[in-house]
Amino acid sequence: MQTSFSEEQLADPRLRQANDILRKCVHCGFCLATCPTYVELGNELDSPRGRIYLIKDMLENDKPASQQVVTHIDRCLSCLACMTTCPSGVDYMRLVDQARVHIEETYDRPFADRLIRNVLAFVLPYPGRFRLALAAAFFGKPFAPLLQRMGGPFARMGAMLQLAPASFAGRLREAQTGNIFPASSPRSGRVAILTGCAQPVLDPGINAAAIRLLNRLGIEVVLPAGEGCCGGLVHHMGREAAALAFARANVDAWMREIEGEGLDAILITTSGCGVTIKDYGHMLAGDPEYAQKAVRVAALAKDITEYLAAIDLPEPAKTPGLPGLSVAYHSACSLQHGQRIVLPPKMLLEKAGFILRDVPEGHLCCGSAGTYNIMQSEIATRLRARKVRNIESLKPDLIAAGNIGCMTQIGAGTALPIVHTIELLDWAWGGPRPEALAVMLKER
Ligand code: SF4
Ligand code: SF4
Repeated sequence: MQTSFSEEQLADPRLRQANDILRKCVHCGFCLATCPTYVELGNELDSPRGRIYLIKDMLENDKPASQQVVTHIDRCLSCLACMTTCPSGVDYMRLVDQARVHIEETYDRPFADRLIRNVLAFVLPYPGRFRLALAAAFFGKPFAPLLQRMGGPFARMGAMLQLAPASFAGRLREAQTGNIFPASSPRSGRVAILTGCAQPVLDPGINAAAIRLLNRLGIEVVLPAGEGCCGGLVHHMGREAAALAFARANVDAWMREIEGEGLDAILITTSGCGVTIKDYGHMLAGDPEYAQKAVRVAALAKDITEYLAAIDLPEPAKTPGLPGLSVAYHSACSLQHGQRIVLPPKMLLEKAGFILRDVPEGHLCCGSAGTYNIMQSEIATRLRARKVRNIESLKPDLIAAGNIGCMTQIGAGTALPIVHTIELLDWAWGGPRPEALAVMLKER
């Protein structure tokens, strides 16, 4: 694609990067067919190519973001299916990140929009605040359908309430940062696990399963004091300063461990966070104090399945109830497109003894995408219905996924049990049965 940035503009590293990305696009349109918003809405401006044109025009002409640009960029899920498809290697992720920062800097959002974004940025990245919000949401949940019917800002509140768990028992426990979980067999490795923000509140059983399994495999696990949200939630809102502050805090927490007892890896059980942490080197490249440390941290970051697939696992235990269970594996966009991790989770589930079913249209997002299912609840609900239809067509016993956002989103639209991949692996290698499977196994 031809661009016409001025010499002066190209002196700005951000615009120089945008220029390099834009010039790679050859307008071929291959990305349209795999873009969930284009597939659902059929509007070129809701496709990667359409958004690229809008961003080009905005940045090249140094325009403040218009309502039209904001509408179509806000509708982008950042699922990155377009990057998997693009034959020219267009780095859409960095381009849309830049567009979001530009929107944040130049566009005056309507009051209701600003309010809900501020509330989400104030609550979600902080487990203590999120825990309190969930407790309140538990009582408001019955009103979710009414609020959604009312439309406008009420619909977003309704979407939030609909996604809240039906019970908050067990979610009031604090995450155990600062703790060390020693290997239960001779120690062969030492890793950190990201505690994160929303996941330990929504489902503390996920990291507990990862820790149990790793310990049984001889791996010591540390939850470093000071680690928190990866910064992804605010990063996708274009709030760069807040995202970088979270990134720096995590880099500090992990560097203390790296320089102390050492770490073989930093493991992540929420694949959305994995994309952000693997990008810390780029995010902090302009910060002389953190640039090198961020590269070091990012190089150690691994999805839990990526790590397990690379170690020599023993034969799974003979687990009663497990043989013959069919699993529809939902490949989160942040795993398959964001981190290009496709085979390891499937390979591990098959090795564990499950019968694996590939979900039709598996490349399409379920509509979760961070806060997307709250901010763009109508499109998100359509995408969830499509995903659930595809999953249920397989008639599986259960659904597995590697991202709490997808689990919450899909789980709100189906009666099938949905569990994290690591909970199944822990069960297969001698851990307890995931709680979510109790009813299904009783009925079999
Ligand atoms: S990130 Fe996803 S929603 Fe956004 S343009 Fe690419 S494919 Fe479409
Ligand atoms: S597939 Fe790549 S090169 Fe083709 S239009 Fe989409 S972004 Fe541009």
